[in-house]
Amino acid sequence: MSAMPLADLRAVVGDAHVLDDADAAAGYLTDWTGRWTGRADAVIRPRTTEEMAAVVSACAAAGIAICVQGGNTGLVGGSVPPVGGDPADRPLVLVTTTRMTDIDGVDTIGRCVGVQAGATIDAIDRRAAESGLRFPVDLASRESATAGGLVATNAGGIRMIRHGNTRSQVLGVEAVLADGRILRRWTSLVKDNVGYDLPGLLAGSEGTLAVITRVLFRLVATPGDTIVSVAAVHHVADAIGFLGSLTDRGLNIEAAEIMTEAGITLVEEYGPRRPVAARAPFYVLVETSGTGDVEAVVLEALESAPVADAVLEPGPARALWAAREQHTESIARSSATPVVKLDVSVPIRALPEALAELEAVAGMVDHPCRPILFGHIGDGNIHVNLLDVPEDRVDELTAHVFGIVAANGGSISAEHGIGRAKTAWTHLGRGEVDRAAMRAVKDAFDPAGLFNPGVLFG
Ligand SMILES: Cc1cc2nc3c(=O)[nH]c(=O)nc-3n(C[C@H](O)[C@H](O)[C@H](O)COP(=O)(O)OP(=O)(O)OC[C@H]3O[C@@H](n4cnc5c(N)ncnc54)[C@H](O)[C@@H]3O)c2cc1C
Repeated sequence: MSAMPLADLRAVVGDAHVLDDADAAAGYLTDWTGRWTGRADAVIRPRTTEEMAAVVSACAAAGIAICVQGGNTGLVGGSVPPVGGDPADRPLVLVTTTRMTDIDGVDTIGRCVGVQAGATIDAIDRRAAESGLRFPVDLASRESATAGGLVATNAGGIRMIRHGNTRSQVLGVEAVLADGRILRRWTSLVKDNVGYDLPGLLAGSEGTLAVITRVLFRLVATPGDTIVSVAAVHHVADAIGFLGSLTDRGLNIEAAEIMTEAGITLVEEYGPRRPVAARAPFYVLVETSGTGDVEAVVLEALESAPVADAVLEPGPARALWAAREQHTESIARSSATPVVKLDVSVPIRALPEALAELEAVAGMVDHPCRPILFGHIGDGNIHVNLLDVPEDRVDELTAHVFGIVAANGGSISAEHGIGRAKTAWTHLGRGEVDRAAMRAVKDAFDPAGLFNPGVLFG
């Protein structure tokens, strides 16, 4: 290992884009949740794939570890370096795609668009809309979350029930490998079975295999008229039944979200109004599309469903969505300590029991904490948020939550990834052989372990 080649890195990206001053770098070193703050020797901001390749190449030659960051909205600590810097005691730089925001023109026949890794969901969707199309991934973090981050985490989000996860939207990628070479799989072909699906492998790799620099994304048709309904229900099973009755009537589910009375009450404190007047333990928000009179069909389904109260509005119905979309921010503002965020999934049939058991977790430790649960009900995905948890109780509560999830046949990471937060629990989701195979893939791509040390493998 040689000394930090700052002069070489400055020559590649320009003086203004090598931040080795603690104040200038600070904003990049704490994650969105505030729970993770790391240490890096410098923050590097390349503008192009070639600059990124030159930075990685210089770091590889000098044995310098590299933490990869996009919009820094990840919720599992993977976008910032370890607290004490590199665990192997090497110098460490953080590379950010913040300047890599180019978006190509839309290919309207192939229905796809090429983007640089730092382009945000919002910007990509606006570009797609200029051609009457839609970017099929959407998250409440849309103004900051980037193409590279979406692919690296294989993000799900509110449109997953309709279009699938981010991996399903990736037609091609360009990425910088650990030795600085550029891997390019770039084709709008939907049928192309020449060997391993490397873009699919990079999806969900959390910055541990390569730095994604460009992505070729599939685009989809906009759904036309939509109806957004929010129903207050007494039982989770009633919400699931309501969804089933909508699909039985031939409607498309564009999004389906579940919230609890505790979550709606909390969000109301920070602005968004209650979506429905009646109070009930659960609220289900459903966006539907279809042919014919969608509103009449939704009304018919609501009349025959056991709902306590309901409202509906033509999409986009931003005021109805606000109550759901403000959950993450309101929870972060309300908690006295960094929120313990555990994104899990269970089979849909297990949702009623799992939600009840997860609510009860707060009472399992001798320090009071507040649970707020919400999530993407159509995917069996629950975001478990535990507020006011003292640091020394985090692992105990996490173990309780994951125990419930495993007992219900679920996954300890539905859509946020493993990051630094969940490395101790991957054995609950993957067997020994499976974990060894993942390790072998990591070692093949990144033999010196330069990329994102401590992420995914601990
Ligand atoms: C309000 C809010 C709502 C959210 N809602 C959802 C949701 O509904 N569904 C969901 O899935 N997530 C959600 N998230 C989490 C987050 O937005 C996603 O995980 C998102 O994909 C992260 O993108 P990012 O650009 O911010 O990545 P970052 O946070 O910067 O990084 C996340 C991971 O990806 C890696 N990475 C980033 N860029 C690259 C790159 N170019 N090449 C290689 N690796 C890279 C990082 O090293 C890190 O491991 C939400 C977050 C917030 C704050």
